[in-house]
Amino acid sequence: MDEGLNVKKRMKGPFVPADRQETIRHNIISALMGKTLSAKELSGIVRISEKEVYEHLQHIQMTVGHSGHSLNITPAECRRCGFVFRKRERLKRPGRCPICRSESIEEPLFVIE
Ligand SMILES: [Zn+2]
Repeated sequence: MDEGLNVKKRMKGPFVPADRQETIRHNIISALMGKTLSAKELSGIVRISEKEVYEHLQHIQMTVGHSGHSLNITPAECRRCGFVFRKRERLKRPGRCPICRSESIEEPLFVIE
């Protein structure tokens, strides 16, 4: 039984195998602390696919606030006409611009502040 929320961060035991997903999230959060990166750059740092990076970022977006931080997103932008994908709920880079149909899209950027 937990004694309370205040102690939830204490490790229960020394030799429990680390949850790989938690480790990856931790590494992503560390990489993004005060540093702006794209999912592609993160995938190179953490050594997972871009698709996985976006999945982790969605989780991080929901949980990072607990520690008083926030995930700031620079939205994807069309390189041709400058359309900004602000309302996109999913973080992932869109395939093409709805205005000019260009597939040249600037990647969204992420930073934790
Ligand atoms: Zn466009």
